[in-house]
Amino acid sequence: MSVSSNSTGGSLLGCLLIIARYHEIPLSEQTAIAGLPLVDGILTPSVFHRAAKRAGIASRICSSAIEELNENLLPVILLLNDDQSCVLKSINAGDNTAEIIFPELPDTVVHQPLAELRQRYTGQVIYARPEFRFDKRAPEIKKVKDRHWFWGVIAENRRLYRDIIIAAIMINLFAVAMPLFVMNVYDRVVPNHATDTLWVLSAGIIIVLIADLVLRMMRSWFVDLGASRADVKLSSSIMEHVLGMKLSNRPASAGSFAANVQSFESVRSFMGSLTVVALVDLPFVLLFMAIIAIIGWPLVIPIIVGALLVLIYALSAQSKMHQLSETSMRAGSMRNSTLIESLSNLETVKSFSAESRIQTNWEQSTIFITRTAAQMRLLSASITNGAQWTQHTVAVAIIIIGVYMLIEGQLTQGGLIAAYLLSSRAMAPISQAAGLLAQYHHSSTAMESLNEIMERPVERPSGKNWISRPAVKGSIEFKRVNFRYPDDERLALTDLSFNIKAGEHVAILGRNGSGKSTLEKLILGLYQPESGAILVDGVDIRQIDPSELRHQIGYVPQDVSMFFGTLKENIITGYPQAEDHQILKVANLSGLAPFINAHPAGFDMQVGERGQLLSGGQRQSIAIARALISDPPILLMDEPTGSLDHTSEEQFKQNLSRYSKGKTMIVVTHRSSLLALVDRIIVIDAGKIVADGAKAEVMEALRQGRVGSAQ
Ligand code: ADP
Ligand code: MG
Repeated sequence: MSVSSNSTGGSLLGCLLIIARYHEIPLSEQTAIAGLPLVDGILTPSVFHRAAKRAGIASRICSSAIEELNENLLPVILLLNDDQSCVLKSINAGDNTAEIIFPELPDTVVHQPLAELRQRYTGQVIYARPEFRFDKRAPEIKKVKDRHWFWGVIAENRRLYRDIIIAAIMINLFAVAMPLFVMNVYDRVVPNHATDTLWVLSAGIIIVLIADLVLRMMRSWFVDLGASRADVKLSSSIMEHVLGMKLSNRPASAGSFAANVQSFESVRSFMGSLTVVALVDLPFVLLFMAIIAIIGWPLVIPIIVGALLVLIYALSAQSKMHQLSETSMRAGSMRNSTLIESLSNLETVKSFSAESRIQTNWEQSTIFITRTAAQMRLLSASITNGAQWTQHTVAVAIIIIGVYMLIEGQLTQGGLIAAYLLSSRAMAPISQAAGLLAQYHHSSTAMESLNEIMERPVERPSGKNWISRPAVKGSIEFKRVNFRYPDDERLALTDLSFNIKAGEHVAILGRNGSGKSTLEKLILGLYQPESGAILVDGVDIRQIDPSELRHQIGYVPQDVSMFFGTLKENIITGYPQAEDHQILKVANLSGLAPFINAHPAGFDMQVGERGQLLSGGQRQSIAIARALISDPPILLMDEPTGSLDHTSEEQFKQNLSRYSKGKTMIVVTHRSSLLALVDRIIVIDAGKIVADGAKAEVMEALRQGRVGSAQ
């Protein structure tokens, strides 16, 4: 595990690797950073803990002077000036030196005077220690093991939510003050003209109102804070999960999947609204009712009846609401998939006059969605309006009962007014709860579909230990591999066995749909065989971190696709630390150089989304450059010259024959000219090997028609 100075990830990643090695935790560069948001390919302190967590290392950034570091927690990572960092192994107080390791020289311990170190030290230190690991002997308890992706994050903010609840309780207690104030003014101040008491009471109530205002503002602020803190974490974990998903579990439609991912928005807004907090108010209904009962118990009856009516109605509408929101969500994601598919294939849509079909599709689903949405709105309005109507009716009933009690002398005027005011306070949480029941379905349906996404298996499950293969030699072996695409009845590859030695050059021939591309995708670990094994350098690739494996393979896919951005960005996507001379080298190799030189923007030319601003041949050349940029030991090429013209192909062939010396190369091709590069040919048909041997033999057999078909 060596870390060179221009390695991926920068200085901090180097330090992480040193720490991992110190604790004897296997960790490779690729495993640590694959899929993390890096800045210019550099691991930053803010995402350090995510990289460390993959190795089972818990980490924390603190500000601390060197003298104040806790010696028991060494080694630690010191952040130095200019985005550099180093590992501090120990401090020798005797001669005022420190033992440090720089990521550039991971095997050398440097003794540096503390004074010198202090000059470069930014004051920020990262403590990083291995977490306790259970092994198989300690049986897992499912509930403890899996922290729910959503509730786990929410629970991290539990102190915040505790404060919100405390604030809500205070606000509710304060709410009793106003009716009591009014009652006392009516019963004591007005009859006696006691203006002094009025002022005292008013001063008191104003103080309560101010405290109430402050608490309410704090509550809103905390709710928002909790929501936005969780938002960042949740959206990154959702995206990480989506990108890490196994291809075999890939959703059928990108557009509809995107709609489901975006539905997180409705969960977010629900979480960030005060409606959830309204639930805290619910128990206070009892408090208000108790106070009303003290004023005059018969006054409680309308409130109980009203509350029951509202809740029964709201609950009875639940299943209908849920069904409607599920239907509208499904229709919405279907409509989104129509949109995304037609937008990304606009050229095809126009070329084959598919507009009308798509338009019909769109309009039908829009009409359906509008209708469902209208039904939902009507239902939820009936709940909220019904609740309000009940609230007012309850107030009227209280006044009626109150007046009778007043006439009989069981109630004072102030008591009547206080009961009236308190009744609206008591009913408010009930209306809110009913409103909540009406609103939450969007979010709950969204949660269901997000849960479904988050349960899909990922390529790199957390806690899995990978074998690190920093330098692959390049032998590839298939052992009785059977493979079937998900939801496909037929095997795409049947009982495939072959052994390719490191440095061997092999061509794969076969008819369309015979499984050539599939074979290469299996070597990349994009899909897993149903049975059998694929070995690279004698190691089953299921044991190698997929991102590390792919890093060792230069792959030119059959269908080339690019990302929006410049040509240079597209070449270095998987290898951001590439230097200019490396980029120039691959541009020459792939035959891209003349085209780049002739273009005014050169390497900065825009390629457009999916590379649509380029011709097919240009795209293919870029794909070749992209595959070669990291100088990988294994080359997998899927018809790499399919769109190249004759001269470019010839040029590329000559470059490749020089470049590929010593590298393992598998080329799928229909062009006989590329066969000059290989020593061996494997012919497959319908997923089975029908010929495998030295080039001359297989060519001869093919010419004589001796190579049969599998069917
Ligand atoms: P080729 O030899 O032309 O490269 P492929 O390996 O692409 O053939 O395809 C082999 C078979 O697998 C074909 O019958 C094709 O229909 C099927 N297939 C290819 N890709 C997929 C996929 N993503 N999902 C399901 N079936 C697929
Ligand atoms: Mg193919």
